[in-house]
Amino acid sequence: MGGFFGVVAASDCVTEVFYGTDYHSHLGTLRGGMAVQSEDGTLKRRIHDITNSQFKTKFDSVLTEWHGKCAIGVISDFEDQPLLVSSRLGTYAIVTVGKIENIRELAEESYKTGIFFSEMSGGELNPTEMIASLINQKSDIIDGIQYAMDSIKGSCSLLIMIDGKIIAARDKFGRTPVSLAKRNLDGAVGVSMETSAFPNLDFTYLRDLGPGEIVQLSLNAVKQLKKPGTINQICSFFWVYFGYPSSNFEGINTESSRYRNGEGIAEGDDYENIDSICGIPDSGVAHAIGYSNASGKPYQRALVKYTPTWPRSFTPQSQTARNLVAKMKLIPVEEQIRDKRLLFLDDSIVRGTQFKDIARRLYERGAKAVHLRSASPPIMFPCKFLNFSRSRSTLDLAAPRAVELLEGHPVDDPELLKKYITEGTEQYNAMVEVIRKELGLTTLKYQTLDKLIAAIGLPREKICTYCYDGCDPTSGECPMCEKLKEKMEKETDKKQSK
Ligand code: SF4
Repeated sequence: MGGFFGVVAASDCVTEVFYGTDYHSHLGTLRGGMAVQSEDGTLKRRIHDITNSQFKTKFDSVLTEWHGKCAIGVISDFEDQPLLVSSRLGTYAIVTVGKIENIRELAEESYKTGIFFSEMSGGELNPTEMIASLINQKSDIIDGIQYAMDSIKGSCSLLIMIDGKIIAARDKFGRTPVSLAKRNLDGAVGVSMETSAFPNLDFTYLRDLGPGEIVQLSLNAVKQLKKPGTINQICSFFWVYFGYPSSNFEGINTESSRYRNGEGIAEGDDYENIDSICGIPDSGVAHAIGYSNASGKPYQRALVKYTPTWPRSFTPQSQTARNLVAKMKLIPVEEQIRDKRLLFLDDSIVRGTQFKDIARRLYERGAKAVHLRSASPPIMFPCKFLNFSRSRSTLDLAAPRAVELLEGHPVDDPELLKKYITEGTEQYNAMVEVIRKELGLTTLKYQTLDKLIAAIGLPREKICTYCYDGCDPTSGECPMCEKLKEKMEKETDKKQSK
Protein backbone atom coordinates (compact mmCIF):
# COMPACT_ATOMS: atom_id res chain seq x y z
CA MET A 1 0.00 0.00 0.00
CA GLY A 2 1.95 3.01 1.27
CA GLY A 3 1.15 6.41 2.73
CA PHE A 4 2.35 10.01 2.63
CA PHE A 5 2.49 13.16 4.70
CA GLY A 6 3.46 16.77 3.96
CA VAL A 7 3.59 20.19 5.61
CA VAL A 8 4.00 23.82 4.55
CA ALA A 9 4.88 26.00 7.55
CA ALA A 10 6.14 29.43 8.61
CA SER A 11 9.24 27.89 10.17
CA ASP A 12 11.24 24.67 9.99
CA CYS A 13 8.85 21.70 9.59
CA VAL A 14 11.27 18.77 9.11
CA THR A 15 10.43 17.37 12.57
CA GLU A 16 6.69 17.41 11.88
CA VAL A 17 7.12 15.63 8.55
CA PHE A 18 9.50 13.10 10.13
CA TYR A 19 6.89 12.11 12.75
CA GLY A 20 3.90 12.52 10.42
CA THR A 21 5.46 10.15 7.89
CA ASP A 22 6.43 7.71 10.62
CA TYR A 23 2.73 7.54 11.59
CA HIS A 24 2.17 5.82 8.21
CA SER A 25 4.62 2.98 8.92
CA HIS A 26 1.83 0.38 9.20
CA LEU A 27 0.99 1.01 5.53
CA GLY A 28 4.25 -0.11 3.97
CA THR A 29 7.25 -2.28 4.63
CA LEU A 30 9.86 -1.65 1.94
CA ARG A 31 10.99 1.95 1.55
CA GLY A 32 10.83 5.21 3.45
CA GLY A 33 11.58 8.57 1.89
CA MET A 34 11.64 12.28 2.71
CA ALA A 35 12.25 15.45 0.72
CA VAL A 36 12.62 19.04 1.89
CA GLN A 37 12.80 22.38 0.14
CA SER A 38 15.59 24.35 1.81
CA GLU A 39 15.51 28.09 2.37
CA ASP A 40 17.66 28.65 -0.75
CA GLY A 41 15.09 26.71 -2.83
CA THR A 42 17.15 23.56 -3.36
CA LEU A 43 15.46 20.20 -2.98
CA LYS A 44 17.00 17.50 -0.80
CA ARG A 45 15.86 13.91 -0.88
CA ARG A 46 16.67 10.76 1.12
CA ILE A 47 15.41 7.18 0.64
CA HIS A 48 16.09 4.22 2.93
CA ASP A 49 15.31 0.51 2.94
CA ILE A 50 12.98 0.01 5.92
CA THR A 51 12.42 -3.73 5.40
CA ASN A 52 14.19 -4.62 8.57
CA SER A 53 14.10 -1.48 10.67
CA GLN A 54 11.87 1.40 11.66
CA PHE A 55 11.48 4.56 9.59
CA LYS A 56 12.49 6.67 12.62
CA THR A 57 15.84 4.94 13.15
CA LYS A 58 16.78 5.33 9.48
CA PHE A 59 15.78 9.00 9.18
CA ASP A 60 16.66 10.53 12.56
CA SER A 61 19.73 12.30 11.10
CA VAL A 62 17.47 14.60 9.01
CA LEU A 63 16.28 16.18 12.27
CA THR A 64 19.66 17.87 12.70
CA GLU A 65 20.89 18.01 9.10
CA TRP A 66 17.85 19.36 7.25
CA HIS A 67 15.97 22.64 7.52
CA GLY A 68 13.06 23.94 5.47
CA LYS A 69 9.52 25.27 5.61
CA CYS A 70 8.12 22.76 3.17
CA ALA A 71 8.65 18.99 3.28
CA ILE A 72 7.03 15.71 2.27
CA GLY A 73 7.56 12.08 3.30
CA VAL A 74 6.43 8.66 2.15
CA ILE A 75 6.23 5.05 3.29
CA SER A 76 6.34 2.89 0.19
CA ASP A 77 5.49 -0.78 -0.27
CA PHE A 78 7.16 -1.00 -3.66
CA GLU A 79 9.25 1.69 -5.32
CA ASP A 80 11.98 4.10 -4.25
CA GLN A 81 10.56 7.57 -3.67
CA PRO A 82 10.39 10.62 -3.43
CA LEU A 83 11.76 11.28 -6.90
CA LEU A 84 13.33 14.63 -7.73
CA VAL A 85 12.23 15.63 -11.21
CA SER A 86 13.65 18.35 -13.40
CA SER A 87 11.21 19.19 -16.20
CA ARG A 88 9.71 21.99 -18.26
CA LEU A 89 7.17 22.35 -15.44
CA GLY A 90 9.97 23.11 -12.99
CA THR A 91 12.01 21.08 -10.53
CA TYR A 92 9.88 19.19 -8.04
CA ALA A 93 9.75 16.28 -5.60
CA ILE A 94 6.96 13.74 -6.05
CA VAL A 95 5.51 10.86 -4.00
CA THR A 96 2.64 8.59 -5.03
CA VAL A 97 0.46 5.87 -3.51
CA GLY A 98 -1.44 3.49 -5.74
CA LYS A 99 -0.91 0.95 -8.46
CA ILE A 100 -0.50 1.20 -12.24
CA GLU A 101 -1.85 -2.00 -13.78
CA ASN A 102 -1.01 -0.88 -17.33
CA ILE A 103 2.51 0.40 -16.60
CA ARG A 104 4.12 -1.79 -19.29
CA GLU A 105 1.68 -0.58 -21.98
CA LEU A 106 2.25 3.04 -20.95
CA ALA A 107 6.01 2.49 -21.11
CA GLU A 108 5.76 0.97 -24.60
CA GLU A 109 3.79 4.03 -25.77
CA SER A 110 6.37 6.35 -24.20
CA TYR A 111 9.33 4.58 -25.84
CA LYS A 112 7.86 5.48 -29.26
CA THR A 113 8.34 9.17 -28.48
CA GLY A 114 11.86 8.71 -27.17
CA ILE A 115 10.97 8.80 -23.45
CA PHE A 116 12.94 6.35 -21.34
CA PHE A 117 12.77 5.16 -17.74
CA SER A 118 15.37 3.97 -15.28
CA GLU A 119 14.49 0.42 -14.27
CA MET A 120 14.49 -0.71 -10.66
CA SER A 121 16.16 -3.93 -9.63
CA GLY A 122 14.40 -7.00 -11.02
CA GLY A 123 13.53 -5.15 -14.25
CA GLU A 124 10.46 -3.44 -12.75
CA LEU A 125 9.53 0.12 -13.69
CA ASN A 126 9.15 2.73 -10.97
CA PRO A 127 5.44 3.71 -10.93
CA THR A 128 6.19 7.14 -9.41
CA GLU A 129 8.57 7.84 -12.31
CA MET A 130 5.83 6.83 -14.75
CA ILE A 131 3.37 9.25 -13.10
CA ALA A 132 5.97 12.06 -13.25
CA SER A 133 6.63 11.29 -16.92
CA LEU A 134 2.90 11.47 -17.74
CA ILE A 135 2.53 14.73 -15.83
CA ASN A 136 5.49 16.25 -17.68
CA GLN A 137 3.85 15.60 -21.05
CA LYS A 138 1.37 18.46 -20.45
CA SER A 139 2.04 22.17 -20.28
CA ASP A 140 0.97 22.66 -16.66
CA ILE A 141 0.93 20.50 -13.56
CA ILE A 142 -2.87 20.39 -13.16
CA ASP A 143 -3.43 19.20 -16.74
CA GLY A 144 -0.49 16.83 -16.24
CA ILE A 145 -1.99 15.25 -13.10
CA GLN A 146 -5.36 14.96 -14.82
CA TYR A 147 -3.69 13.33 -17.83
CA ALA A 148 -1.78 10.89 -15.61
CA MET A 149 -4.97 9.90 -13.76
CA ASP A 150 -6.88 9.43 -17.01
CA SER A 151 -4.05 7.34 -18.53
CA ILE A 152 -3.51 4.81 -15.76
CA LYS A 153 -5.51 1.73 -14.91
CA GLY A 154 -5.38 1.25 -11.15
CA SER A 155 -5.17 4.21 -8.81
CA CYS A 156 -2.91 7.08 -7.79
CA SER A 157 -2.94 9.73 -5.06
CA LEU A 158 0.09 12.01 -4.95
CA LEU A 159 1.99 14.95 -3.47
CA ILE A 160 4.21 17.27 -5.49
CA MET A 161 6.49 19.72 -3.68
CA ILE A 162 7.36 22.68 -5.91
CA ASP A 163 8.34 26.32 -5.24
CA GLY A 164 7.83 26.02 -1.48
CA LYS A 165 4.27 24.73 -1.89
CA ILE A 166 2.66 21.27 -1.98
CA ILE A 167 0.21 20.16 -4.63
CA ALA A 168 -1.95 17.29 -3.34
CA ALA A 169 -4.17 15.15 -5.56
CA ARG A 170 -6.49 12.33 -4.57
CA ASP A 171 -7.02 9.37 -6.87
CA LYS A 172 -9.62 9.94 -9.60
CA PHE A 173 -12.03 7.47 -7.98
CA GLY A 174 -10.91 8.15 -4.40
CA ARG A 175 -9.54 4.62 -3.76
CA THR A 176 -7.08 6.06 -1.25
CA PRO A 177 -7.93 8.84 1.22
CA VAL A 178 -6.19 12.22 1.42
CA SER A 179 -6.96 14.64 4.28
CA LEU A 180 -6.03 18.23 5.06
CA ALA A 181 -5.34 19.90 8.41
CA LYS A 182 -4.19 23.24 9.77
CA ARG A 183 -2.20 24.32 12.81
CA ASN A 184 -3.99 27.39 14.13
CA LEU A 185 -0.96 28.49 16.15
CA ASP A 186 1.18 29.38 13.13
CA GLY A 187 -0.90 28.75 10.00
CA ALA A 188 0.99 25.60 8.98
CA VAL A 189 -1.02 23.40 6.62
CA GLY A 190 -0.65 19.59 6.50
CA VAL A 191 -1.73 16.79 4.19
CA SER A 192 -1.93 13.13 5.18
CA MET A 193 -3.37 9.77 4.23
CA GLU A 194 -4.05 8.89 7.87
CA THR A 195 -5.81 11.58 9.91
CA SER A 196 -4.28 9.98 13.01
CA ALA A 197 -0.99 11.68 12.08
CA PHE A 198 -2.47 15.13 12.85
CA PRO A 199 -3.43 15.50 16.53
CA ASN A 200 -0.04 14.88 18.16
CA LEU A 201 1.50 17.43 15.81
CA ASP A 202 -1.14 19.98 16.92
CA PHE A 203 -2.88 20.03 13.57
CA THR A 204 -6.66 20.32 13.41
CA TYR A 205 -8.40 18.31 10.71
CA LEU A 206 -9.95 20.49 8.01
CA ARG A 207 -11.47 18.15 5.45
CA ASP A 208 -10.91 15.24 3.06
CA LEU A 209 -10.09 15.78 -0.58
CA GLY A 210 -12.83 14.50 -2.88
CA PRO A 211 -12.08 11.94 -5.61
CA GLY A 212 -9.83 13.45 -8.28
CA GLU A 213 -9.62 16.78 -6.42
CA ILE A 214 -6.37 18.74 -6.69
CA VAL A 215 -5.35 21.44 -4.18
CA GLN A 216 -2.32 23.60 -3.52
CA LEU A 217 -1.08 24.00 0.05
CA SER A 218 0.74 27.17 1.09
CA LEU A 219 1.11 28.90 4.45
CA ASN A 220 -2.35 29.55 5.90
CA ALA A 221 -4.06 28.54 2.68
CA VAL A 222 -5.50 25.68 0.68
CA LYS A 223 -6.36 26.64 -2.88
CA GLN A 224 -8.53 24.32 -4.94
CA LEU A 225 -6.99 23.73 -8.36
CA LYS A 226 -9.47 21.14 -9.59
CA LYS A 227 -12.91 20.28 -8.24
CA PRO A 228 -13.63 16.72 -7.12
CA GLY A 229 -15.55 14.26 -9.27
CA THR A 230 -18.72 12.69 -7.93
CA ILE A 231 -17.72 9.02 -8.14
CA ASN A 232 -16.06 7.76 -5.00
CA GLN A 233 -14.81 4.19 -4.68
CA ILE A 234 -12.75 4.39 -1.48
CA CYS A 235 -11.23 1.06 -0.51
CA SER A 236 -13.37 -0.69 2.11
CA PHE A 237 -10.23 -2.29 3.52
CA PHE A 238 -9.28 1.02 5.16
CA TRP A 239 -11.93 0.32 7.78
CA VAL A 240 -11.42 -3.45 7.85
CA TYR A 241 -7.63 -3.66 7.97
CA PHE A 242 -5.35 -0.92 6.57
CA GLY A 243 -6.46 2.12 8.54
CA TYR A 244 -5.06 3.06 11.91
CA PRO A 245 -7.74 2.80 14.65
CA SER A 246 -7.55 6.51 15.49
CA SER A 247 -7.98 7.60 11.85
CA ASN A 248 -11.19 8.77 10.22
CA PHE A 249 -11.86 8.22 6.53
CA GLU A 250 -14.75 10.10 4.91
CA GLY A 251 -15.47 11.27 8.47
CA ILE A 252 -15.94 7.70 9.75
CA ASN A 253 -13.68 6.44 12.52
CA THR A 254 -11.91 3.15 11.90
CA GLU A 255 -12.05 1.77 15.46
CA SER A 256 -15.77 2.54 15.83
CA SER A 257 -16.62 0.95 12.48
CA ARG A 258 -14.75 -2.20 13.56
CA TYR A 259 -16.82 -2.35 16.79
CA ARG A 260 -20.01 -2.03 14.72
CA ASN A 261 -18.74 -4.70 12.35
CA GLY A 262 -18.04 -7.12 15.23
CA GLU A 263 -21.50 -6.43 16.63
CA GLY A 264 -22.97 -7.20 13.21
CA ILE A 265 -21.15 -10.54 13.08
CA ALA A 266 -22.45 -11.49 16.54
CA GLU A 267 -26.02 -10.68 15.48
CA GLY A 268 -27.72 -13.99 14.76
CA ASP A 269 -24.55 -16.01 15.44
CA ASP A 270 -24.60 -19.00 17.76
CA TYR A 271 -22.30 -18.12 20.66
CA GLU A 272 -24.06 -19.91 23.53
CA ASN A 273 -21.34 -22.53 23.83
CA ILE A 274 -18.39 -20.16 23.49
CA ASP A 275 -16.16 -19.44 26.51
CA SER A 276 -14.23 -16.46 25.19
CA ILE A 277 -13.94 -14.08 22.26
CA CYS A 278 -10.43 -13.37 20.96
CA GLY A 279 -9.00 -11.13 18.24
CA ILE A 280 -5.99 -11.79 16.04
CA PRO A 281 -3.68 -8.85 16.81
CA ASP A 282 -3.74 -6.13 15.68
CA SER A 283 -6.58 -5.56 13.27
CA GLY A 284 -8.80 -8.45 14.47
CA VAL A 285 -8.94 -7.03 18.01
CA ALA A 286 -11.46 -4.20 17.50
CA HIS A 287 -13.80 -6.48 15.52
CA ALA A 288 -13.57 -8.98 18.42
CA ILE A 289 -14.32 -6.30 21.04
CA GLY A 290 -17.46 -5.40 19.05
CA TYR A 291 -18.48 -9.07 18.97
CA SER A 292 -17.80 -9.48 22.69
CA ASN A 293 -19.81 -6.35 23.59
CA ALA A 294 -22.79 -7.55 21.55
CA SER A 295 -22.71 -11.18 22.70
CA GLY A 296 -21.92 -10.57 26.36
CA LYS A 297 -19.15 -13.19 26.12
CA PRO A 298 -15.83 -12.09 27.65
CA TYR A 299 -13.06 -10.73 25.45
CA GLN A 300 -9.84 -12.55 26.35
CA ARG A 301 -6.38 -12.71 24.85
CA ALA A 302 -5.52 -16.29 23.95
CA LEU A 303 -2.76 -14.93 21.70
CA VAL A 304 -0.64 -11.87 22.40
CA LYS A 305 1.60 -10.02 19.99
CA TYR A 306 5.23 -9.56 21.01
CA THR A 307 5.29 -5.80 20.40
CA PRO A 308 8.75 -4.80 21.76
CA THR A 309 10.59 -6.17 18.73
CA TRP A 310 7.69 -6.67 16.29
CA PRO A 311 6.18 -3.21 16.41
CA ARG A 312 5.45 -3.12 12.71
CA SER A 313 4.52 -5.51 9.96
CA PHE A 314 7.88 -6.81 8.87
CA THR A 315 7.22 -8.62 5.59
CA PRO A 316 10.05 -10.71 4.21
CA GLN A 317 9.95 -11.61 0.52
CA SER A 318 9.64 -15.39 0.78
CA GLN A 319 6.38 -17.02 1.88
CA THR A 320 8.23 -19.43 4.21
CA ALA A 321 9.94 -16.54 5.97
CA ARG A 322 6.61 -14.64 6.15
CA ASN A 323 4.94 -17.65 7.78
CA LEU A 324 7.75 -17.89 10.32
CA VAL A 325 7.49 -14.17 11.17
CA ALA A 326 3.69 -14.45 11.52
CA LYS A 327 4.19 -17.35 13.92
CA MET A 328 6.95 -15.73 16.00
CA LYS A 329 4.99 -12.49 16.48
CA LEU A 330 2.03 -14.20 18.19
CA ILE A 331 2.55 -16.00 21.49
CA PRO A 332 -0.14 -18.30 22.92
CA VAL A 333 -1.36 -17.70 26.49
CA GLU A 334 -1.89 -21.30 27.55
CA GLU A 335 -4.06 -20.46 30.58
CA GLN A 336 -6.55 -18.73 28.25
CA ILE A 337 -6.60 -21.66 25.84
CA ARG A 338 -6.67 -24.96 27.78
CA ASP A 339 -10.16 -26.52 27.93
CA LYS A 340 -11.72 -23.41 26.37
CA ARG A 341 -14.08 -23.05 23.44
CA LEU A 342 -12.58 -20.07 21.66
CA LEU A 343 -14.11 -17.82 19.03
CA PHE A 344 -11.57 -15.74 17.07
CA LEU A 345 -12.11 -12.74 14.86
CA ASP A 346 -9.66 -11.79 12.14
CA ASP A 347 -9.95 -8.88 9.71
CA SER A 348 -10.08 -11.20 6.68
CA ILE A 349 -8.94 -14.55 5.37
CA VAL A 350 -6.54 -13.98 2.51
CA ARG A 351 -4.43 -17.10 2.00
CA GLY A 352 -5.58 -18.76 5.21
CA THR A 353 -2.14 -20.22 5.88
CA GLN A 354 -1.57 -18.16 9.02
CA PHE A 355 -4.78 -19.20 10.74
CA LYS A 356 -4.29 -22.86 9.80
CA ASP A 357 -1.07 -22.80 11.82
CA ILE A 358 -2.71 -20.86 14.67
CA ALA A 359 -5.59 -23.35 14.92
CA ARG A 360 -3.14 -26.26 15.07
CA ARG A 361 -1.17 -24.57 17.85
CA LEU A 362 -4.35 -23.78 19.82
CA TYR A 363 -5.49 -27.43 19.69
CA GLU A 364 -2.00 -28.55 20.76
CA ARG A 365 -2.40 -26.33 23.84
CA GLY A 366 -5.70 -27.90 24.80
CA ALA A 367 -8.37 -25.73 23.12
CA LYS A 368 -11.66 -27.65 23.07
CA ALA A 369 -12.97 -25.77 20.04
CA VAL A 370 -11.60 -23.12 17.67
CA HIS A 371 -14.20 -21.05 15.82
CA LEU A 372 -13.26 -18.33 13.34
CA ARG A 373 -15.26 -15.32 12.15
CA SER A 374 -13.85 -13.25 9.31
CA ALA A 375 -14.65 -9.53 9.65
CA SER A 376 -15.00 -9.28 5.88
CA PRO A 377 -16.63 -11.47 3.20
CA PRO A 378 -14.56 -14.07 1.29
CA ILE A 379 -11.92 -12.42 -0.90
CA MET A 380 -12.63 -13.70 -4.40
CA PHE A 381 -10.56 -11.37 -6.61
CA PRO A 382 -7.03 -9.93 -6.16
CA CYS A 383 -7.04 -6.15 -5.83
CA LYS A 384 -6.27 -4.35 -9.10
CA PHE A 385 -6.35 -0.84 -7.67
CA LEU A 386 -3.83 -0.83 -4.83
CA ASN A 387 -0.51 -2.43 -4.25
CA PHE A 388 -2.20 -4.75 -1.76
CA SER A 389 0.68 -7.12 -1.13
CA ARG A 390 -1.41 -9.72 0.66
CA SER A 391 -3.14 -10.97 -2.50
CA ARG A 392 -1.08 -11.10 -5.65
CA SER A 393 -2.94 -13.67 -7.75
CA THR A 394 -6.33 -15.34 -7.63
CA LEU A 395 -4.93 -18.66 -6.49
CA ASP A 396 -3.09 -16.99 -3.60
CA LEU A 397 -6.56 -16.57 -2.16
CA ALA A 398 -8.26 -19.19 0.00
CA ALA A 399 -11.76 -18.71 -1.48
CA PRO A 400 -10.92 -19.16 -5.22
CA ARG A 401 -8.71 -22.11 -4.25
CA ALA A 402 -11.73 -23.72 -2.60
CA VAL A 403 -13.84 -23.04 -5.71
CA GLU A 404 -11.16 -24.66 -7.85
CA LEU A 405 -11.31 -27.74 -5.66
CA LEU A 406 -15.11 -27.89 -5.90
CA GLU A 407 -15.16 -27.31 -9.66
CA GLY A 408 -12.33 -29.76 -10.27
CA HIS A 409 -10.50 -27.45 -12.69
CA PRO A 410 -8.60 -24.13 -12.65
CA VAL A 411 -10.94 -21.19 -12.19
CA ASP A 412 -10.03 -18.33 -14.51
CA ASP A 413 -13.56 -17.21 -15.32
CA PRO A 414 -14.73 -14.35 -13.05
CA GLU A 415 -18.35 -15.19 -13.83
CA LEU A 416 -17.83 -18.67 -12.38
CA LEU A 417 -16.31 -17.18 -9.21
CA LYS A 418 -19.25 -14.79 -8.91
CA LYS A 419 -21.59 -17.80 -8.57
CA TYR A 420 -20.00 -18.44 -5.18
CA ILE A 421 -20.31 -14.97 -3.65
CA THR A 422 -23.93 -14.92 -2.49
CA GLU A 423 -24.03 -15.96 1.15
CA GLY A 424 -26.44 -18.72 2.05
CA THR A 425 -26.45 -20.36 -1.38
CA GLU A 426 -25.43 -23.99 -1.83
CA GLN A 427 -22.23 -22.95 -3.67
CA TYR A 428 -21.25 -20.38 -1.02
CA ASN A 429 -21.82 -22.85 1.82
CA ALA A 430 -19.79 -25.53 0.02
CA MET A 431 -16.90 -23.08 -0.51
CA VAL A 432 -16.88 -22.02 3.16
CA GLU A 433 -16.97 -25.66 4.23
CA VAL A 434 -13.88 -26.45 2.10
CA ILE A 435 -12.02 -23.55 3.75
CA ARG A 436 -13.18 -24.57 7.24
CA LYS A 437 -11.85 -28.08 6.76
CA GLU A 438 -8.61 -26.79 5.22
CA LEU A 439 -7.97 -24.53 8.24
CA GLY A 440 -8.99 -27.21 10.77
CA LEU A 441 -11.72 -25.11 12.43
CA THR A 442 -14.75 -26.09 14.50
CA THR A 443 -16.88 -23.53 12.64
CA LEU A 444 -16.16 -20.76 10.15
CA LYS A 445 -18.33 -17.82 9.18
CA TYR A 446 -17.71 -14.68 7.13
CA GLN A 447 -19.23 -11.25 7.59
CA THR A 448 -21.76 -10.49 4.85
CA LEU A 449 -21.12 -7.64 2.43
CA ASP A 450 -24.36 -5.86 3.37
CA LYS A 451 -23.49 -5.89 7.06
CA LEU A 452 -19.91 -4.77 6.42
CA ILE A 453 -21.19 -1.82 4.38
CA ALA A 454 -23.69 -0.99 7.12
CA ALA A 455 -20.86 -1.08 9.70
CA ILE A 456 -18.77 1.33 7.63
CA GLY A 457 -21.79 3.57 7.23
CA LEU A 458 -21.28 4.96 3.71
CA PRO A 459 -23.69 4.34 0.82
CA ARG A 460 -22.72 1.17 -1.02
CA GLU A 461 -21.96 3.01 -4.27
CA LYS A 462 -19.29 5.08 -2.49
CA ILE A 463 -17.20 2.07 -1.40
CA CYS A 464 -15.01 -0.25 -3.44
CA THR A 465 -16.06 -3.87 -2.91
CA TYR A 466 -14.32 -5.35 -5.95
CA CYS A 467 -12.26 -7.96 -4.12
CA TYR A 468 -15.43 -9.42 -2.56
CA ASP A 469 -17.91 -9.26 -5.42
CA GLY A 470 -15.95 -8.39 -8.58
CA CYS A 471 -17.98 -5.17 -8.85
CA ASP A 472 -16.05 -2.38 -10.58
CA PRO A 473 -18.48 0.35 -11.57
CA THR A 474 -15.65 2.46 -13.01
CA SER A 475 -15.07 -0.15 -15.72
CA GLY A 476 -18.58 0.52 -17.05
CA GLU A 477 -19.59 -3.11 -16.47
CA CYS A 478 -21.37 -3.23 -13.17
CA PRO A 479 -24.42 -5.44 -12.96
CA MET A 480 -24.50 -5.09 -9.18
CA CYS A 481 -24.36 -1.34 -8.92
CA GLU A 482 -26.95 0.11 -11.30
CA LYS A 483 -27.19 3.39 -9.38
CA LEU A 484 -23.55 4.20 -9.91
CA LYS A 485 -23.67 3.09 -13.51
CA GLU A 486 -26.52 5.53 -14.14
CA LYS A 487 -24.57 8.31 -12.46
CA MET A 488 -21.52 7.60 -14.63
CA GLU A 489 -23.61 7.62 -17.80
CA LYS A 490 -25.11 10.98 -16.85
CA GLU A 491 -21.62 12.37 -16.26
CA THR A 492 -20.39 11.12 -19.63
CA ASP A 493 -23.46 12.72 -21.32
CA LYS A 494 -22.73 16.00 -19.51
CA LYS A 495 -19.09 15.96 -20.67
CA GLN A 496 -20.06 15.18 -24.26
CA SER A 497 -22.68 17.96 -24.41
CA LYS A 498 -20.09 20.58 -23.28
S1 SF4 B 1 -10.35 -4.34 -4.54
FE1 SF4 B 1 -10.45 -4.60 -2.30
S2 SF4 B 1 -8.42 -4.01 -1.53
FE2 SF4 B 1 -8.60 -3.24 -3.65
S3 SF4 B 1 -9.35 -1.11 -3.48
FE3 SF4 B 1 -11.15 -2.43 -3.72
S4 SF4 B 1 -11.81 -2.95 -1.62
FE4 SF4 B 1 -9.69 -2.18 -1.52
